[in-house]
Amino acid sequence: MKTELVTCPSCSKEVSPRLWHENIRANISKRKTLHLCPLCGETMYTSGGGLSGFGKLLAFIFVIPVIIAFIGKHISSIFEYIGFSRNVSELIAVCLMLFVLIKYLSAKYPSFNRALIKVKNLFGDK
Ligand SMILES: [Zn+2]
Repeated sequence: MKTELVTCPSCSKEVSPRLWHENIRANISKRKTLHLCPLCGETMYTSGGGLSGFGKLLAFIFVIPVIIAFIGKHISSIFEYIGFSRNVSELIAVCLMLFVLIKYLSAKYPSFNRALIKVKNLFGDK
Protein backbone atom coordinates (compact mmCIF):
# COMPACT_ATOMS: atom_id res chain seq x y z
CA MET A 1 0.00 0.00 0.00
CA LYS A 2 1.36 3.36 -1.00
CA THR A 3 1.17 5.93 1.76
CA GLU A 4 1.33 9.67 1.34
CA LEU A 5 4.33 11.21 3.02
CA VAL A 6 4.06 14.53 4.78
CA THR A 7 6.87 16.76 5.99
CA CYS A 8 6.53 17.12 9.75
CA PRO A 9 6.65 20.82 10.72
CA SER A 10 8.27 19.90 14.03
CA CYS A 11 11.13 17.52 13.09
CA SER A 12 11.02 18.24 9.31
CA LYS A 13 11.25 14.55 8.35
CA GLU A 14 9.13 12.91 5.65
CA VAL A 15 6.69 10.75 7.55
CA SER A 16 3.42 8.92 7.10
CA PRO A 17 1.05 10.41 9.69
CA ARG A 18 -0.49 8.29 12.44
CA LEU A 19 -4.20 8.97 12.79
CA TRP A 20 -5.82 9.55 16.14
CA HIS A 21 -9.62 9.75 16.16
CA GLU A 22 -11.23 11.96 18.76
CA ASN A 23 -14.85 11.77 19.96
CA ILE A 24 -15.70 8.64 17.96
CA ARG A 25 -19.14 8.34 19.60
CA ALA A 26 -19.92 12.02 19.06
CA ASN A 27 -23.35 12.83 17.66
CA ILE A 28 -23.43 16.59 17.97
CA SER A 29 -19.99 17.21 16.55
CA LYS A 30 -18.25 15.56 13.62
CA ARG A 31 -15.43 13.15 14.30
CA LYS A 32 -12.13 14.95 14.57
CA THR A 33 -8.94 13.26 13.39
CA LEU A 34 -5.48 14.24 14.59
CA HIS A 35 -2.58 13.52 12.23
CA LEU A 36 0.41 12.76 14.42
CA CYS A 37 4.04 12.45 13.50
CA PRO A 38 5.21 8.86 14.27
CA LEU A 39 8.73 10.07 15.02
CA CYS A 40 8.27 13.03 17.37
CA GLY A 41 4.59 12.61 18.26
CA GLU A 42 3.74 16.17 17.32
CA THR A 43 0.23 16.89 15.94
CA MET A 44 0.95 17.92 12.36
CA TYR A 45 -2.61 18.86 11.44
CA THR A 46 -6.22 17.97 12.24
CA SER A 47 -9.13 17.17 9.99
CA GLY A 48 -12.88 16.92 10.56
CA GLY A 49 -14.57 18.37 13.60
CA GLY A 50 -17.23 21.04 13.67
CA LEU A 51 -20.97 20.61 14.13
CA SER A 52 -22.66 17.65 12.47
CA GLY A 53 -26.06 17.97 10.79
CA PHE A 54 -27.68 16.73 14.01
CA GLY A 55 -25.67 19.26 16.02
CA LYS A 56 -26.83 22.07 13.76
CA LEU A 57 -30.45 20.92 14.15
CA LEU A 58 -30.08 20.92 17.96
CA ALA A 59 -28.58 24.39 17.84
CA PHE A 60 -31.47 25.54 15.67
CA ILE A 61 -34.11 24.07 18.01
CA PHE A 62 -32.59 25.36 21.27
CA VAL A 63 -30.65 28.49 20.36
CA ILE A 64 -33.02 30.21 17.91
CA PRO A 65 -36.03 30.41 20.33
CA VAL A 66 -33.74 31.83 23.04
CA ILE A 67 -32.49 34.50 20.63
CA ILE A 68 -36.04 35.32 19.49
CA ALA A 69 -37.27 35.55 23.11
CA PHE A 70 -34.31 37.78 24.00
CA ILE A 71 -34.83 40.15 21.05
CA GLY A 72 -38.61 40.10 21.57
CA LYS A 73 -38.26 41.16 25.21
CA HIS A 74 -36.14 44.13 24.18
CA ILE A 75 -38.48 45.20 21.39
CA SER A 76 -41.55 44.94 23.64
CA SER A 77 -39.82 46.88 26.44
CA ILE A 78 -39.25 49.73 23.98
CA PHE A 79 -42.99 49.89 23.23
CA GLU A 80 -43.80 49.59 26.94
CA TYR A 81 -41.50 52.53 27.55
CA ILE A 82 -43.36 54.57 24.92
CA GLY A 83 -46.59 53.92 26.83
CA PHE A 84 -48.25 50.84 25.37
CA SER A 85 -49.54 48.19 27.78
CA ARG A 86 -47.51 44.99 28.23
CA ASN A 87 -49.87 42.85 26.09
CA VAL A 88 -49.94 45.33 23.22
CA SER A 89 -46.15 45.74 23.35
CA GLU A 90 -45.62 41.98 23.16
CA LEU A 91 -48.07 41.72 20.27
CA ILE A 92 -46.23 44.48 18.38
CA ALA A 93 -42.89 42.76 19.08
CA VAL A 94 -44.16 39.40 17.75
CA CYS A 95 -45.66 41.07 14.64
CA LEU A 96 -42.42 42.95 13.96
CA MET A 97 -40.31 39.79 14.28
CA LEU A 98 -42.71 37.83 12.06
CA PHE A 99 -42.57 40.63 9.49
CA VAL A 100 -38.75 40.62 9.51
CA LEU A 101 -38.65 36.80 9.38
CA ILE A 102 -41.03 36.70 6.37
CA LYS A 103 -39.06 39.46 4.60
CA TYR A 104 -35.82 37.54 5.25
CA LEU A 105 -37.21 34.18 4.10
CA SER A 106 -38.76 35.61 0.92
CA ALA A 107 -35.48 37.35 0.07
CA LYS A 108 -33.46 34.20 0.68
CA TYR A 109 -35.79 31.59 -0.79
CA PRO A 110 -37.62 32.52 -4.03
CA SER A 111 -39.91 29.49 -3.62
CA PHE A 112 -41.07 30.87 -0.24
CA ASN A 113 -41.83 34.18 -1.94
CA ARG A 114 -43.90 32.43 -4.64
CA ALA A 115 -45.83 30.52 -1.94
CA LEU A 116 -46.47 33.82 -0.14
CA ILE A 117 -47.92 35.37 -3.32
CA LYS A 118 -50.18 32.32 -3.76
CA VAL A 119 -51.49 32.74 -0.20
CA LYS A 120 -52.10 36.46 -0.91
CA ASN A 121 -54.08 35.63 -4.05
CA LEU A 122 -56.06 33.04 -2.07
CA PHE A 123 -57.43 35.77 0.17
CA GLY A 124 -58.41 37.81 -2.89
CA ASP A 125 -56.10 40.77 -2.81
CA LYS A 126 -57.89 42.74 -5.54
ZN1 LIG B 1 7.90 14.98 13.63
